[in-house]
Amino acid sequence: MDTIVAIATSHGRSAIGLVRLSGPSSLNILRGLIHDPLFVPEPRKLFLKQIRRESGELLDSVLVSYFEAPHSFTGEEMAEISCHGSPLILRRLLDLAQNLGARLAEPGEFTLRACKNGKMNLTQAEGVRDLINAQTDAAAVQALRQLNGELSGALQPTQHKLIQIIVRLESALEFVEDDLPPIEASQIKKDLLEVIGILSRLAATFGSGRVLRDGIKVTIVGAPNVGKSSIFNRLVGRDRAIVTDIAGTTRDTISELIVLRGIPVSLTDTAGIRSAAGEIEELGVERTHRAAADSDLLLVMTDGSKATTAEDLVIIAEAKGTKHVIAVNKCDLPFRANVDGVLALSKVVHVSAVTGEGLDQLTAAIIEPFGTVDSETAGLLITDSRHYDLLRRAQSSLESSRELLDQSASEELVLVGLHSALRFLGEITGETTADDILAEIFSSFCIGK
Ligand code: GDP
Repeated sequence: MDTIVAIATSHGRSAIGLVRLSGPSSLNILRGLIHDPLFVPEPRKLFLKQIRRESGELLDSVLVSYFEAPHSFTGEEMAEISCHGSPLILRRLLDLAQNLGARLAEPGEFTLRACKNGKMNLTQAEGVRDLINAQTDAAAVQALRQLNGELSGALQPTQHKLIQIIVRLESALEFVEDDLPPIEASQIKKDLLEVIGILSRLAATFGSGRVLRDGIKVTIVGAPNVGKSSIFNRLVGRDRAIVTDIAGTTRDTISELIVLRGIPVSLTDTAGIRSAAGEIEELGVERTHRAAADSDLLLVMTDGSKATTAEDLVIIAEAKGTKHVIAVNKCDLPFRANVDGVLALSKVVHVSAVTGEGLDQLTAAIIEPFGTVDSETAGLLITDSRHYDLLRRAQSSLESSRELLDQSASEELVLVGLHSALRFLGEITGETTADDILAEIFSSFCIGK
C-alpha cells in the first residue's frame, strides 16, 4: 500500500492550511519534512516544527500530529501538517512530500481507505461527502444521520430477516423430499411481505429526501416588464444561500441558489431574453417550453396593473403542461388585468415586488407541490438516487419471489430473487459493491477527503 498526500483545506488563501498523509510511510515522510529522522511523536499530540525547502531555507513553521494505525480516520498510519494557509506553501509542501515518496491522493481516497479498512461502511462514507456538500441545515442533518450509520443500521434487521428466510428455504431444500409444508410456506410469505413493506416505506421517503438534499429548480418566465427581475432580486436578497455558484448560467439568464423553508432552490430569471417584434407568440412558447423542460417548477409572472396581453396568455397556456405557480405582480397598483378563466386550475398569488406584499404566500406556493418536509421531525430519509434505485431493485426481486411462492414454485426458483435482493441491499452499504462502482462513487468526493 502506498502513502498518499493531499491538501485537506479549501483552495485559495486562508489562515491555516492542512496537508494530510495516509499510508505506511507517513511517519517517515513527516520525519523527512522536518529533517528529524529520530522524531518519535506521541500519537494525537501537536508538535511545533520547522519545514525547510530543499535548499535548506525555512519554508514554514508548522504544527504536526501523528496517528498510529489503526487509530486514525483511514485506519492507516497518518500524519497531519498545519501550516500557514498560503497556496504557495501548501504547494511546496505537497512537492516535498512527493519527493519523499508520497503519491497525490485521488478524490475521496482517504475515505475509500477508511471504508476498505472497516472504519466506516459505504453509506457512512457517502454521508461524509453529503455533509461537506450540504447546502442547507436540513441537508446537513440528514447527511450526519447517514454518517452516524443510521441508514446501514436501519437496513441491518431487514438483511438479517432476509437471511433467516433464505436459510429456512435452503434447509427445506436440503432435508425435505416433499414440498414446503403449508404452514412454513405461509409464514415465509408473511415474513417476505413484511420485508417488502419495510423496503417500500424506506424507498418512499426518497421524494422528500431528494428535494431536501438536491433541491429544486424554479424558473421565472413572463412577458417583458412584468417584474421578473424585481421578484428575482427580492427573493435572492432575502433568501440567498451560502453556496451561490451555479454551473451553466447563460448570458440570457441568471441563476442564484436560495433556501426556501429549508429547501435549496436554484432560481433562474429569464428576464434577459427579449423577443423581437412579430415573434412574440412563437418565442413565448418556445422559451417557456425550454424553461419547463429544465425546471421542476415554473414561476409565471404577469402584470396585474395592465390589461392581459396575448403573450401572457400564450405563456400561461404553455406553462399549464408542467408544475407552475402564477404570480400576478404589482398588486400595489390598481388591478386592471382581465385574467378570469385563464387562471383556473392554476395556483395564483398576488404579489408586489415593490412592497414585498404576498412574498410569503409565494414562497409557500413554490414549495407546496414538493411536500413540506420538516427536517427536524422527519425520520431517516433516502436522499441518494443510488440507494433508492437499489432499494427498488431489492423490492422487485422480493416481489417476484413472493409471486413464485404463491404459485408453489420450487424453492430454488424462489431463492434466486431472495439472493438478488440481499445482494442489492449489500450494495447500498458497500458489502457487495463492485470495485468499479466504488471508484465511481468516490470520484465525486473532494480531493483530500
Ligand atoms: P422584467 O422585465 O419582467 O424583469 O421586469 P422588471 O423587474 O425589470 O420590472 C419592470 C418595471 O416594473 C420596472 O420599472 C419595475 O420597477 C416595475 N415593477 C416591478 N415590480 C413592480 C411592482 O410590484 N409594483 C410596481 N409598482 N412596479 C413594479
